[in-house]
Amino acid sequence: MIVVTTISALRAHREAARVASRQVALVPTMGALHAGHVALLDQARQLADTVVLSVFVNPLQFGAGEDFGAYPRDFNRDLALAAAHGVDVVFAPLHDEMYRPDDELRITAGDTAARWEGDARPGHFAGVLTVVNKLFNIVGPDVAVFGQKDIQQVTLIRRLVREFDVPVALCVVPTVRDADGLALSSRNAYLTPEQRDAALALSRALRAVAAHWAIGERESDALRAEASGILDAVPLLAPEYVAIVDPERLAPVARATAGTVVALAARVGATRLIDNIILGDPR
Ligand code: AMP
Repeated sequence: MIVVTTISALRAHREAARVASRQVALVPTMGALHAGHVALLDQARQLADTVVLSVFVNPLQFGAGEDFGAYPRDFNRDLALAAAHGVDVVFAPLHDEMYRPDDELRITAGDTAARWEGDARPGHFAGVLTVVNKLFNIVGPDVAVFGQKDIQQVTLIRRLVREFDVPVALCVVPTVRDADGLALSSRNAYLTPEQRDAALALSRALRAVAAHWAIGERESDALRAEASGILDAVPLLAPEYVAIVDPERLAPVARATAGTVVALAARVGATRLIDNIILGDPR
């Protein structure tokens, strides 16, 4: 496994892969790797000859007052996990390698980015789309692997690829959960044991919606009420939204169909947690 910190070194490895006709998969992360990230790496390993893991805590996607400074960082542990899961190249640029002081362009999106997470975190998706576009241009992957956990992010990256004709295939990996249902997240490290217990209501609410869907409930209001009832019953939890939306634009739908996304967000103390399911998804 090779660790590179500069764009020119990464490009040299990319060029060598191209000359050898090796397919390249990219897994973009902010580090603090957990089993969710590992599932992406394992999927990438299946899809390509060369797996590139990027580790970059992207300041552009953090708002003022968010946790950029506190975001968990453990590069040595990340390297050990990456090596154990067959990563070929780790791209870990420092800030100045990615951004120059006079940079001024951002990729912004319309309605799909304005709702839900975009509403709660102004500028977040412009930061995500800008860095992912840069990573696509730097690495030139044949395939890029993302997690369903961040479903609005993946919806927007799909749009980025389609609308800007980026020559990359996307692969979306189902959310990896702890045995008790909690979706894995680097931010779970912030939770006290009591907060973690409260956080279980997110996946519990989604399971309740899936169960009602399975017995034939199709009205979004009824499905949303099911989830809200569970979230509202937990004192430590401050629910932010329960979105029942179409998968293309994440706009609310009155009736759910197979493929409808149920996404929710809640605060536990200072920590914001998100989770989602796709109705009719056998997983
Ligand atoms: P992050 O490091 O939080 O930017 O996440 C990097 C990638 O890992 C993104 O594509 C996430 O959607 C994905 N990811 C994060 N948590 C999970 C999870 N629990 N299951 C599957 N993928 C995940």
